[in-house]
Amino acid sequence: MVALVIAEHNDSALRPTMLNVIAAAVACSNEVHVLVVGEGCAAAAQDAATVEGVSKVLLADGAQFAGGLAESIAAQVLAISGGYTHILAPATPFGKNILPRIAAKLDVSQVSEITKVVSADTFERPIYAGSAIATVRSKDPVKVITVRATSFAAQSKGAAAAPIEATAPVTVSSTRARVVSKESLATDRPDLTAAKVVVAGGRGLASRENFEQQLAPLATKLHAAVGASRAAVDAGYAANDCQVGQTGKVVAPQLYFAIGISGAIQHLAGMKDSKVIVAINKDPDAPIFSIADYGLVGDLNELVPQLTAAL
Ligand code: FAD
Repeated sequence: MVALVIAEHNDSALRPTMLNVIAAAVACSNEVHVLVVGEGCAAAAQDAATVEGVSKVLLADGAQFAGGLAESIAAQVLAISGGYTHILAPATPFGKNILPRIAAKLDVSQVSEITKVVSADTFERPIYAGSAIATVRSKDPVKVITVRATSFAAQSKGAAAAPIEATAPVTVSSTRARVVSKESLATDRPDLTAAKVVVAGGRGLASRENFEQQLAPLATKLHAAVGASRAAVDAGYAANDCQVGQTGKVVAPQLYFAIGISGAIQHLAGMKDSKVIVAINKDPDAPIFSIADYGLVGDLNELVPQLTAAL
């Protein structure tokens, strides 16, 4: 059994969550190859080669991959997919954009967002917004899998580097999509999905200004990433990519602050695996307190500045 992991990277290095995805691949196969696709991404391939458990890195480097279009990457994966028993990618927008195309072309059922490898063909995955765990057995010859990175311990980096093999870049003859431009938000804060501490705010912050005013000093003190409930995002208090939950990002930091967040099931789906949860809410009956390790009942506009000052 040989697994192929599709690397999410920034041209110079793997995204940190790839170490968890590779751990899932190691758990369900005997051998793991990593495919790095992009334009000018040799450094990312070198990074992948140092991850323990990786026996080979395949590098497809070409101008046709500029912008990282899913159509182009999927075509590259399909061109080399023969012989692989498992194809894995992270359950991020990157992986969710590519793997369904591959599953459809291979005529297999995708196994989405696995949280545990039971055996080479059996996996656990959350359903109903995480209210239940389904154990899924795939009888398909190739298992096409997205991985919830927070559920797997990160693979470490070893001293020995695996060989890097150049693979011929595939060109898609007709794609109706093209990348017009890319913008990334400049921030000094850690990546939300990889942060050890997350300070998240909800509708209780009441305005964009207050969201920033209350949460930014606390997040800076704790070197934390800033997250938000969907209500806060929809109200324009926080950027879209801050959303935590069923339709946002899934996080599992060491410490999660839920501030002015009620604790709807769709929010819990994205953060309930956090190691320690601190909730600040003026309503003592808010559902968030049922999963919080520490709860502060009161007005966040008084409690958050006090907490920040005490820290
Ligand atoms: P509210 O539920 O309005 O809670 C605000 C809280 O702030 C209340 O508990 C209140 O007591 C407290 N509060 C108010 N003022 C103060 C104050 N001054 N001091 C202290 N506390 C105060 N939601 C997500 O978060 N993420 C998702 O990914 C997501 N996906 C969804 C997908 C679907 C299909 C659906 C139907 C819903 C989804 N939702 C998601 C929305 C979810 O159901 C809730 O509506 C949302 O999480 C509520 O956000 P909130 O807790 O910030 O707001």
